Amino acid sequence: MAVVVLTPDAQLRVAADGTWLEAAPAVAELLGYAPHELVGRPAPELVHPDDREEVVAAMRAGLRVSSRVVLEVRFLRRDGSVLDADARLDVERDAAGEPSGYTVTIRDASDRRRVEALRARWELLFRATSRGIAVTDPVTGLLESVNPAWAAMHGGVEADFVGTHVAAALTPESAARLPAITAALHPGEMIAYESEHVRLDGTTFPAAIELTATLDGMEGALRWLTWVDDLTERRRAEEAAARHARELARSNADLDRFAAVVTHDLQSPLRLIVGSARILERRDGARLSQEERELIGLIANGARRMAALVEGVRAYSGVRGHDAADEALPLRGLVDEVVAAMRGELEAAGAHVAVGDLPTVCGDPVGLTQLVQNLLSNALKFRADAPPVIAVDAERADGGDWIVTMADNGIGIAPEDAERIFGFGDRLRTDDEIGGTGIGLAICKTVAERHGGRIWVEPAPGGGSAFRFTLPPARR
Ligand code: ADP
Repeated sequence: MAVVVLTPDAQLRVAADGTWLEAAPAVAELLGYAPHELVGRPAPELVHPDDREEVVAAMRAGLRVSSRVVLEVRFLRRDGSVLDADARLDVERDAAGEPSGYTVTIRDASDRRRVEALRARWELLFRATSRGIAVTDPVTGLLESVNPAWAAMHGGVEADFVGTHVAAALTPESAARLPAITAALHPGEMIAYESEHVRLDGTTFPAAIELTATLDGMEGALRWLTWVDDLTERRRAEEAAARHARELARSNADLDRFAAVVTHDLQSPLRLIVGSARILERRDGARLSQEERELIGLIANGARRMAALVEGVRAYSGVRGHDAADEALPLRGLVDEVVAAMRGELEAAGAHVAVGDLPTVCGDPVGLTQLVQNLLSNALKFRADAPPVIAVDAERADGGDWIVTMADNGIGIAPEDAERIFGFGDRLRTDDEIGGTGIGLAICKTVAERHGGRIWVEPAPGGGSAFRFTLPPARR
């Protein structure tokens, strides 16, 4: 597997006549010779005298069948001590294909022990990890080794797979994609992709793959090292979550449809009650006792409150069921329209609305009109003694979203109530002094969230409330 280079390899070049041509500086470290001291000397001189014949014969024999020979060689250092080394000999050829010299690469074999220790650690990891690992020879496509996790994932033990073709563990489609995936892979690089694997029993499973090419051992043979994660469980969880989300959306839609039908159907009997009470009051008012008139007033009031609630529920399920359109929406125009539509109420309250520079956002005009209108009408409803002053402004947040602020000089909201006022039907005062249903801010919250944003309230300077909400900027 991946062999870690612990000392630099020393490289020397030998001429066709067997004398040293040049040597890399690392030679000094390994053999004690300055590179220039070796040039021109016969190469075998460096080999331990007892081994010379054998080494030369082995090299000759090896080079007859291959242009690369790897041997264990005892070298003699300059100080006469012995260096146990691995040596690799590569033939250099001239234009005519004739041997013109050799490159000799020497590595201290005592490094091997440290490599062995590393290898033992790697082995431990290889066997203990729950990730599947496979080593493949890219030339033959055969699996050289697989770890127990890989074998278990594929429904067998290691021996079932070692020596088999890697394509046997893939669906035909995934196997067909492999050459394109690996074509661009260079040693040391890693690519990640998903693939469909086949177990011994023929069943398949989705897998996340990390594939890296590595040069193995002294010979530098190319190997594919593959990490495999079985995605079955993850896919199952993703599907369950998606199913759950679909069911939730469906049941929400059912609820909204139900609310729409009920609120629609409740409107006409309510109108009937209010209208009848009014007729009774008007036509028979003189004949009725004081107590009877009061009772009729209570009925009419109750019915009006109920009508307001029904209208609130209708508006709430309306914004929930409404798709948050994502058109580019100049906010300034939208606020101006709401202010114009509420001119009567604003003037009656002696209110002043100051609208600052507002951005173009990405949003749904219907929902945002509701939101702005609810905040404005709350600012009027919950005003203090002074005439209402409402300031509308926007600033850019760090994340790129816009934060819109609508601040009033009203009665303000205690910090401990700042969260619950956004709940459905939550009001801070339940007396009828100020009418309301507690649904307006729940609608604002739904609209903000449908835009991927949020809404909150802060104390405004001077004792009022500053409602703030975020909106995504318009896409260009
Ligand atoms: P409603 O106005 O129908 O009561 P909302 O959901 O709009 O319902 O508001 C919930 C509560 O939050 C209100 O009852 C009120 O107590 C408080 N509130 C909302 N807006 C303001 C405001 N601008 N200033 C002070 N209190 C407010």
